[in-house]
Amino acid sequence: MHNGPLITESPVRVSYRRALIITMITLIVSQLITAIAILVCDIPEDILREIVGIWFALAAICSTVVAFPLALVFQRERLKLARAMQQLEEVHAELARRARLDPLTGILNREAFLTRIKRFQEQEVSGAMLMVDIDHFKQINDTYGHHAGDKALQLVANAIEQAMRDQDIVGRIGGEEFGVFVPGEKAELAGLVAERIRLAIARIDFKPEPGLRYGITASIGVAQGAYSDKVSELFRMADNRMYDAKQAGRNRVVIDAAA
Ligand code: GH3
Ligand code: MG
Ligand code: MG
Repeated sequence: MHNGPLITESPVRVSYRRALIITMITLIVSQLITAIAILVCDIPEDILREIVGIWFALAAICSTVVAFPLALVFQRERLKLARAMQQLEEVHAELARRARLDPLTGILNREAFLTRIKRFQEQEVSGAMLMVDIDHFKQINDTYGHHAGDKALQLVANAIEQAMRDQDIVGRIGGEEFGVFVPGEKAELAGLVAERIRLAIARIDFKPEPGLRYGITASIGVAQGAYSDKVSELFRMADNRMYDAKQAGRNRVVIDAAA
């Protein structure tokens, strides 16, 4: 096992080292070609004795002078390309991350949320869906402005995340509506998660103006589905129960009777 610090050679040093290796190979090849040329050309011995040293020296100098700078330029370009590729990969990963997240709240957006639920279903994991809708949210916008509304949405998303369990997933379905998928659980237990979320939202310390605490509440519908059910159907059932919660006076959880 390697316990000491991992020492990696700098890319520039690697470039120089590789350029040197290429130059050495070129040098050897040039000397070989010179030797073969001398053998093939059948030069008289007295002349050969005079020029052989110069030939080998010229071949060595020419190959070194040409090969080293060329190899270095080639290695530098290769390094630049590798750096550009790495940057491209980082940008790609960041774009993919942003495409999954809702920019305001930082939780999954609708598409990514649906994809995650479908992934559970592919693994034949059933679960319950919670539809969380903030009560009279428009009033916050109308009274304190859109910026305060945005802040309230961030606080609600945060409260939901704090109240749910690690394996549950949350997404912003749109506007002031959030979805929570509770994998592997029946509606009754998901109802407990929903109740915890409702309480967490009611406890949010939202101050749209200095010194003024504004109580936020939400209505939550809970529906249970099998992994073979369509996600849109699960959504529809949870949405219907959420509307029942609104009708019944808001700030409450309604669980689907079929469950
Ligand atoms: P209910 O209790 O019946 O749900 O009433 P509500 O006011 O919460 O619902 P309604 O559908 O009438 O209003 C939702 C409002 O949410 C309207 C829309 O302007 C606001 N909204 C949607 N998206 C955003 C957002 O990203 N930021 C802010 N600030 N407001 C948003
Ligand atoms: Mg709504
Ligand atoms: Mg609402």
